[in-house]
Amino acid sequence: MTENKKPEWLEKIIEERIIILFKLANEFLDKNEKRSKRYIQLSRKIATRHRMKLPKKLKRNFCKKCNILFTDKNTIKRKNNQINKIIFKCKKCDY
Ligand SMILES: [Zn+2]
Repeated sequence: MTENKKPEWLEKIIEERIIILFKLANEFLDKNEKRSKRYIQLSRKIATRHRMKLPKKLKRNFCKKCNILFTDKNTIKRKNNQINKIIFKCKKCDY
């Protein structure tokens, strides 16, 4: 298997785009939920297309099923003691 390594500058541009989309998603979350979800969807698409992983800090910030950005209001936080991690549960789709 050969690994296509992208130049660093390109990865930076893609990552920046993803971060911008997440910011937009955050802005529209209250005003227009549908649009907000679209932004998350789009950023995931960009990442997939470029075979890049979403930045770590963003990865856990949205629901992988319905693409909604997680906030304190729409999630239930649960501590999983077995793996010592906080698990987010989406209130919207119960995922
Ligand atoms: Zn969800």
